[in-house]
Amino acid sequence: MENATEPLWWGNKRYHTLNWELRKVFGTKVFKIPLDAGFTCPNRDGKLSDKGCLFCSPRGSGDFAGDRKEDLKQQFDNLKAVMHKKWHQGKYIAYFQAFTNTYGDVEYLRKVYELALNQPEVVGLAIATRPDCLPEEVLDLLAEFNKKTYLWVELGLQTIHKQTARSMNLQYDYEKFRQSLQNLRKREIQTVAHIILGLPGETHEMMRVTGETVAELPIQGLKIHLLHLMKNTPLAQIYKDKPFPYLTQHEYIDLVADILEKIPPDVVIHRLTGDSPRSTLIGPEWSLNKWEVLNSIDDRLVQRNTWQGRMRGNL
Ligand code: SF4
Repeated sequence: MENATEPLWWGNKRYHTLNWELRKVFGTKVFKIPLDAGFTCPNRDGKLSDKGCLFCSPRGSGDFAGDRKEDLKQQFDNLKAVMHKKWHQGKYIAYFQAFTNTYGDVEYLRKVYELALNQPEVVGLAIATRPDCLPEEVLDLLAEFNKKTYLWVELGLQTIHKQTARSMNLQYDYEKFRQSLQNLRKREIQTVAHIILGLPGETHEMMRVTGETVAELPIQGLKIHLLHLMKNTPLAQIYKDKPFPYLTQHEYIDLVADILEKIPPDVVIHRLTGDSPRSTLIGPEWSLNKWEVLNSIDDRLVQRNTWQGRMRGNL
C-alpha cells in the first residue's frame, strides 16, 4: 500500500468496495436482490411513533425492493431476471431491505430468511434493521444463520448527534447503536453502519465527527448516504414550510473524501450515494446522476492523492 502514485489496491478504486470484497470472497460477480418481506417498523406502526424517521419514504426506504404484494420467491425471480439481462453469470445475496427486517416473530423471521437462502445461487443474506429491534432471541437466530451462510446486518445509525436524532424522530440514539453493535459482534456477525450526510441542522463538522466516530467502531462495513428529500415524507412538509439547504455536490464529495481517509482499510464501503427513484425525489437533483457523483469521488481522491484509511497514521 505504500505506492501512493499507483493505488490499485481495491481493483481500480481508492476505497474498499463491496464489489471488490464479494469478488474476493466468492470469485465471481455477486448481486444483491432487494426484497420486501412485508415488515413494518416500530417507528411507523405506532409502537414508538407513527411518523417514522422523518426522511423515510412510504416504502420504508426500500424503494427499489421487490413488490410486497408478491411473495418473496416471485420478487426474487423477477429481480434476478432483470440482473440476468445485464450480467449472464453471478451469484446472489438476498437483501432484506424495506422497513425493519428483524421486527417480527422469530419463527416468521426464520421462515423468510430460510426461504430467501434456499433460492438458486443465493450465497448469503443481508438484513437491514434498526438498533432497537435486536432482542436476544433475534440475535441468536442471526447467529444461527451466521454459522451457515455469509451474513451481514445493516444497522441504521445516520448520525451520532443526539439533537439531530431527536429532530429526525429516529427514536434511538448513538448509545443504543453501540450496544446493538456490541451484541452483534459478540456473535461475530458482520455489521454495516449507515450514516447520512446533509441532515438538516448539521454542520459539515458534525457530519465529519459522525464519520470519524464510526471509523473507531468495530464495524465491518459502512454505507454513506446523502440525504434525499423524498415526496410524501414528513421532512418534505418541513422543507415546504421552512426550506433548509441541501449539500452541494462539491460539498458532499469533499465530506465523503474526508471521511474515507479516516475509515480503516479493512472496512468494506457498501455505498457512497443513495438511490432514489426520479419520480419521488424532491432534491437535491444532482444526486440523480449517480455515476457522475461516484466518478467525482474517485477524481477527488486522485486530486488529493489520498485513499481510504490514509489519515489513520499507519499506512
Ligand atoms: S427505522 Fe427505517 S423503516 Fe423505520 S422509519 Fe426509520 S428509516 Fe423508516
